[in-house]
Amino acid sequence: MDSREADLGSSQTGFLGSESAPLVHTLETTRHSPLQPNQRSSRAKSQVSRQASAVELYKYLEYYPDSDKLTALKRCRKIGYFVRHKETGRVRLALNNCKLRWCALCGSAKVSWITFTVSGWLANRHRPKFATFTLKHTDEDLGFQIQQLYRFFVNLRKLAGFRSKVRGGIWFFQIKLSVNDGLWHNHLHCVIDSSYFPQGELSSFWSRITEGSTVVDIRIIQDPDKAANEVARYAACPCDLSKNSLEQNREIYHALHSRRICGAWGTAKGVQLKPPKDEQPDLWENVGSRSVVVELRNSDPCARAIYQAYVQHTYLEPDVNCRSFDNWLDDDFQNYLAEKESSW
Ligand SMILES: [Zn+2]
Repeated sequence: MDSREADLGSSQTGFLGSESAPLVHTLETTRHSPLQPNQRSSRAKSQVSRQASAVELYKYLEYYPDSDKLTALKRCRKIGYFVRHKETGRVRLALNNCKLRWCALCGSAKVSWITFTVSGWLANRHRPKFATFTLKHTDEDLGFQIQQLYRFFVNLRKLAGFRSKVRGGIWFFQIKLSVNDGLWHNHLHCVIDSSYFPQGELSSFWSRITEGSTVVDIRIIQDPDKAANEVARYAACPCDLSKNSLEQNREIYHALHSRRICGAWGTAKGVQLKPPKDEQPDLWENVGSRSVVVELRNSDPCARAIYQAYVQHTYLEPDVNCRSFDNWLDDDFQNYLAEKESSW
């Protein structure tokens, strides 16, 4: 099977293994993950269980005014269309997406984009570092703990001793339950543009700012692509919901609501952590739904041409489309079913 076909098929089950970024959030990428089949399978299973936990969480939110989120989550990335660029003839797959923070499927698309941008930034740094900052565990309100962590980190970046070595960076929030004491373990992971920074000195700064939290880690990044992918996963999924109870996930949801989970400063300020919007969406024309094109690709010449252009990265001639099939399914077939039903 063609690797691109593999992506297409896997996206139907929600697993997106790509490591490069789409041009716009709704368009699928054309590069592919180097993951081994067993790794893909493992990540797919993990994604399914995280999505199931997200559905459970948003079901709870139905009691709140934003109940339409559950509907959007359930529909996420299930409806897809092949689109053709009117000027270049290129074909892409456009999927609807809910863009909800805890959607595992949207998270995968976000991983692709952030890996792409962060690895590009890291590639132009001299001996970049990976740093992690944590706080002592407490049983205080989770929202307050996160607020404290963010405030301490801002204060750290203002310290002259820190600024003299660190020129900029990108931070990512992560949270999980500590297996030792059952308390929330909040931490910030950062990729930083930094000169040599002894761990003891960094720990001393952090301890001074936080009044007693000394646990920090700093190390040289050996593989920028791998590091970028790792931090991108925190941005896509700051907490693995499938590891927690619903009650705990409710607490996380409210504590992180309207709060950023990643950001950039200094020399990383220009790094785009959100995919840019397509500035010319009108240039992309719908040439057929994913289900129709895939279903008919071996029997219908238009479906075959669309599918081949997508898989083989070739151009699609104008006026080739499967819209008539979609229109029939959308309108005529529905009318046919309605008539048949009324005659029963
Ligand atoms: Zn989604």
